[in-house]
Amino acid sequence: MHDFGDIFVKILVINSGSSSLKFQLFSLPDFKVIASGLLEESDDEQSPARMTFPVNSGETRTINTTLPTTQERPAISAMLGLLRAYDIMDDENDLAAIGHRVVHGGEAFHEPVLIDEDVIKAIEKLIPLAPLHNPANLSGIRLLREHVPDIPQVAVFDTAFHQTIPEHGFLYALPHELYTKHKIRRYGFHGTSHGYVARQAAEYLDRPLDELNIISLHLGNGASAAAIKNGKCIDTSMGLTPLEGLVMGTRSGDLDPAILFYLSRETGMNMDELDNLLNKASGLKGICDENDMRTITKSAAQGDQRAQLALAMFCYRIKKYIGSYMAALGGVDCIIFTGGIGENSAIVRKMSCAGLHPFGITIDQEKNALRHKKRAAIHSTESSIQVLVVPTNEELEIARQTLQVLTTASLHKGKNNAI
Ligand code: ADP
Repeated sequence: MHDFGDIFVKILVINSGSSSLKFQLFSLPDFKVIASGLLEESDDEQSPARMTFPVNSGETRTINTTLPTTQERPAISAMLGLLRAYDIMDDENDLAAIGHRVVHGGEAFHEPVLIDEDVIKAIEKLIPLAPLHNPANLSGIRLLREHVPDIPQVAVFDTAFHQTIPEHGFLYALPHELYTKHKIRRYGFHGTSHGYVARQAAEYLDRPLDELNIISLHLGNGASAAAIKNGKCIDTSMGLTPLEGLVMGTRSGDLDPAILFYLSRETGMNMDELDNLLNKASGLKGICDENDMRTITKSAAQGDQRAQLALAMFCYRIKKYIGSYMAALGGVDCIIFTGGIGENSAIVRKMSCAGLHPFGITIDQEKNALRHKKRAAIHSTESSIQVLVVPTNEELEIARQTLQVLTTASLHKGKNNAI
């Protein structure tokens, strides 16, 4: 038996990437994390797997092991093996459900859904829109359906939150048939995070979400902004793919598309090379050879001019999005900073909001400089717009949405299972 007291059921959250698997196991009803792990799949014999879980003493225990390289996608069975071996999940039947992060839901999915064969087919059809992510997400879903066929699985889509964006916001000014024939439009990503922090902000401000206009800035390795009007997303900076919008760790964000034609003609670069250039070798990395904001901030403070430039470009792009979303929303109640950079970098928050006092945004530098591990307001008393730091928690949000889908499905069946 496990050591965790009165736990009846658990929810497992899976983020299955092309060469790694991240998981978190939550106990219900309080959504406490009882184990989390990262398993990396490679041809290397030392492919690492790590699982962390709290023990009775209140401390955390970490298990480091390696994955077999003989199996295809060994991470799923290794994860289940680890959970069993350490008595964290001695019986799969105490799993209420498995929630999967699925990157692209296209226009097919506006909300999380219980996974069945039709849902799998629909996610498969969306592979051209997310050729790296959706196949990886699907392989996780399929393998878990084989390993634990009786456990309900739920797909939570990164794009779903943005499905409320109106047509004039999601369409590109391209021939209309590119949308009708090829589904080329803005989809947006990080939706689970934007939705989560918006709700967290409403709770913190003690106001109904549907009365709030919010600009949410998710700044991590990937970065995106969302304009949220009365609780619903009306615009976001990422587009057909996560490449558009803000300056990111290795992605360029917005640029003149003609740069690609020019480069192709001038240098003969092919599509794959251009793709790699914009997704992997641009952004902060392209500007200053470094994509970790901690290092960039340190180098900038020591006088490194490229690092200073990277920081300035990163923050200037954010400021432009704040301005344009203020116009799109026609009045803003609060701005949220989240993600690894948004939550931790006082200098990024300061530079992104610098000079915005004529628009009602003033940061309190002392509050901004504090380390915020939980929700906190960092605006000054004269600021008419509230500026918040809100830690995101996509896994928790996926677990909550998974439970919600399950509860709704059970109610539809006219019975409420053991939740
Ligand atoms: P991902 O998008 O991969 O989930 P995260 O949200 O974890 O990434 O964000 C990673 C980014 O956050 C990195 O650029 C990292 O340098 C930055 N970051 C983390 N902690 C700090 C900090 N204390 N100060 C500045 N940047 C930070």
